[in-house]
Parts: sequence; C-alpha cells; structure tokens
Amino acid sequence: MHASIIQSLRNNIRGPVLCPGDADYDKTRALHNGMIDKRPAAIARCTGVADVRYCVNAARENDLLVAVRGGGHGVAGNASCDGGLMIDLSLMRGVRVDAGQRIAWVSGGATLGDIDHETQPFGLVAPAGVVSETGIAGLALGGGFGWVRGKYGMTVDNILSVDIVTADGELRHANKAENPDLFWAVRGGGGNFGIVTTFEFRLHPLGPIVMHCAPVYAGNQARDILRGWREFMQTAPDEFTTEFFFWTIPEHDTFPPDLRGADVVIPAGVYAGPADEGERYVQPLRELATPLVDLSAPRPFTAVQQMFDVYLPKGELLNYWKSLYLDRMTDEVFDALITVFNERPAKRTPFVLHDLRGASARVDADATAFGSRAMPYLMEFNSSWTDPGDTDANIAWTRRVWNDMAARFSSGHGGYLNMTCYNEYGEGLVKETYGVNYRRLREVKREYDPGNLFRLNANILPA
Ligand SMILES: Cc1cc2nc3c(=O)[nH]c(=O)nc-3n(C[C@H](O)[C@H](O)[C@H](O)COP(=O)(O)OP(=O)(O)OC[C@H]3O[C@@H](n4cnc5c(N)ncnc54)[C@H](O)[C@@H]3O)c2cc1C
Repeated sequence: MHASIIQSLRNNIRGPVLCPGDADYDKTRALHNGMIDKRPAAIARCTGVADVRYCVNAARENDLLVAVRGGGHGVAGNASCDGGLMIDLSLMRGVRVDAGQRIAWVSGGATLGDIDHETQPFGLVAPAGVVSETGIAGLALGGGFGWVRGKYGMTVDNILSVDIVTADGELRHANKAENPDLFWAVRGGGGNFGIVTTFEFRLHPLGPIVMHCAPVYAGNQARDILRGWREFMQTAPDEFTTEFFFWTIPEHDTFPPDLRGADVVIPAGVYAGPADEGERYVQPLRELATPLVDLSAPRPFTAVQQMFDVYLPKGELLNYWKSLYLDRMTDEVFDALITVFNERPAKRTPFVLHDLRGASARVDADATAFGSRAMPYLMEFNSSWTDPGDTDANIAWTRRVWNDMAARFSSGHGGYLNMTCYNEYGEGLVKETYGVNYRRLREVKREYDPGNLFRLNANILPA
C-alpha cells in the first residue's frame, strides 16, 4: 500500500492506523483462530461511522483488498488479509438499551458479552451465540444460533434495522420500510453488502437466572445418552434449546484432576422460562445414567454465556471447522458420530449437535436471506489442535469426515457458513447454502457492491 494512502488514513480518521512494526500491530491483527497469520498493510481502528466511511472510500478509490473485523471469531479467518486494509471495528462496542420498548442499539464491533452486560440487568436478552467473546456482527449477519433460539429465534430473526456503510461510502439505514432489499440481504448474507456500524435488535424477557442443564456423562455411554436425548426432545417445548456436546474434559483447574482428559458427552441446554419450571423440566436429562459430574444449576444467564470462554482462549487453538445439516438422527447416525469422534486426531476437537426445532425452524426460507430452516439437525465438527505440525492431518481428517457424513446423512442445504472454513469451496458451497435465495442475493449485491469490494467473506458474486 502506498505510503500516501496510509498517511491520508492517519490524517482523516479519528482512530489509530497501525502498520507492520507499530506497537499493537501484532496484537490487533491476531484473530481467535490461531491458524490465521495474515499481515495487513494497514489496520484502521475505526471509532465511528465517519472513520468507516473514510476507509471504505479510500479502499474503493485505491483498489485495496478489504477485510472487515468485528469480534475476530470468524473461523475462516476473513477478518484479516495479507497486504490490504483491515477495517477494524473492535473499538466500536457501545450498546444502548430501551428497556421499555425492548430494543437495543448495538455497535458493529460489540461482543455478545457487551450486549448481555447491558441487557441482562433489565431481564432482557438479544438472541445470539453461546460464547461471550464472539463478535455480534459476523454472528448476526450470518445467522446466529444460541441458547434462546427455540423460544425467540435466531439472531437474524431479531434484527429490526441496521446502519450500514455500503461500497459507495454512503451510510444507509435498512429496515422493513427503508431499503427493504438490503435489509433482507443482511439478515443471513454475511458481510457481503457493507459494514454494519449499528444493529437494532428486538429484546425478549429472560432471566437473569435461567435453568442451565449440563450433566456430564462418560463417553462410553454416548449411544444411550444420545437415544435418551433424542426421545426427550420429541416433546420439548420452545423454551428448551439444546446443544449436545461430544467433548474431552480439558486440563483445566475448573475440573477435578481425575476427570481431566476423559471423553464425555453432555446433553446441554437452557430453559428460557422460569428457572424453577426449567429445573423440573430438565430433570430427566440429568437421570439418563449416573453422570461423572453434573454441572446443571439455575445460574445467571451471563454466567452460562461465559462458561466456555476459559476453554477457548484467543489464538491458543488452531481451528479448522465444518458444519453440516443432517436430515435425521437415527441410531446409524449416532454410531457414525461416535466412531469418528473416537478416531479424531486431536483431543481438543469437540463435536456439537444442535436439535433445531422451535421458533427458529418456523421461519420461511425466503423471509430472510439466511435460507432454509427445513433441516432438523446441525452438526459442527470443530477441529482444534495446538501443534502447527498437526495441521495437515487435522484438515484432511475434517474434510474426509464432512464429505462422508454429507454423503450418508444430509440431503443438502450446504452448511452453516459461520461455523465453516469455506474458503476452499468457491461459489459452490455458498450457492448451495443460500438455495432459493441465491439469485436474489446476487441482485442485491450488484445494487450495493457491484465491484465486489467486500469479497473476503462467504462471497456472493454480483449478478
Ligand atoms: C469460539 C466460537 C464460538 C462460536 N459460537 C457461536 C454460536 O454459539 N452461535 C453461532 O451462531 N455462531 C458461533 N460462532 C461462529 C460465529 O458466528 C462466527 O465466527 C462469526 O463470524 C463471528 O463474528 P465476529 O464478528 O466475531 O467475526 P469476525 O471474524 O470479526 O468477522 C467475520 C466476518 O463477518 C463480517 N463482518 C464482521 N464485522 C462486520 C461488520 N461490522 N459489518 C459487516 N460485516 C462484518 C466480515 O465478512 C468478516 O470476515 C462461534 C465462533 C467461535 C470462534
């Protein structure tokens, strides 16, 4: 990047502009996924809309490669780039709540923890994900599966409006009435259409104390526990959202020494209703066998949201994740999952299985750009390891398992792109995932980003 561009960024934006060699450059370019080691020519740490607009205009006029960073959790690593401009929103984390109207306005660099911190004192929640350090922007624009999905829908279903800087440098407001095509497209179409500086979210009553279900069973009981969980879910109300974990207890002092390193399964969930009602409701899941330890308890929702944070420190794990929609949950699927889990090359790799029933499943495929909600299960293969020497083996294994499971147990709909390293697939996976919405997304892309300035994402090519 020419020195004059960097100088003009420094002269015109309020936040710092960092280049290789500057203090904080390495810290700021680092992403959650320790496998990503990209070196932007400049990092513009925006402090507001004017900074973002200046960066977008500078990038377009000078033909710069652009990466947009929200919370930096995108596993595909597109929040950074080699040699281009990283537009970093991580200084923009403000959250304003109107408790009476049950609305929150959230800045584009906020984390889920920032939102919970402001909403939970009012007993309100913006449906999002399950790790507090994840950025809201990437999560919300790509979908958003979290602990209240069954009751209140996905994050995309709760966006009321966005302020977005499009590729022409204009700030646009998009909601049902104003720029409705753009509003439709950002609800699932990812970072393809511009940089969201503010989200407006619908809030819902929750907690602050919720019933958290987390009995930890021995891995060798996985088949029985899976069967019990499947049966339990047949009659589950919207209040109960579940994620079934295949996990190895980490070497961490939150667990007794004799349990560390044990393979376990956890039929986890949150009951989005009165905690005492939830406690009675989840009891059968806690009695499927004798748990090694039972972490279930009524606890603050903010504590549930922060529970995984300690096991996922930024940059420590190298990640290659894939997700797949599964169309059934038969014993054959259970056996296949148990087999591949036991064969995985890295003990730090968890699998997460979502039962997708509830409010999020009742949204029509074309209501938001996100696409079909028809598939009843979502499976995440979250390969995670620490030694760079193990990278090739883990990536090869993840691809093999994903291809095999897709061929046997999935009738399509691509994957959940927010949980997938998709860069190697080009247009194919994006097209399949968006399905009936893909054509319309390409038309909206042509309208707002005809030159594909925002292309480091699950890229939708302009029509
Ligand atoms: C530990 C961990 C836990 C997770 N848990 C969940 C979960 O519970 N539920 C779930 O649904 N997903 C979850 N995810 C996946 C998550 O949705 C994606 O990683 C998402 O991309 C994170 O958003 P981010 O802003 O942190 O990412 P970033 O890496 O900062 O951004 C990802 C992409 O989003 C776009 N983007 C970012 N900010 C903006 C913006 N302001 N405007 C426009 N585009 C932008 C860019 O294209 C960027 O490349 C998890 C991921 C991790 C690593």
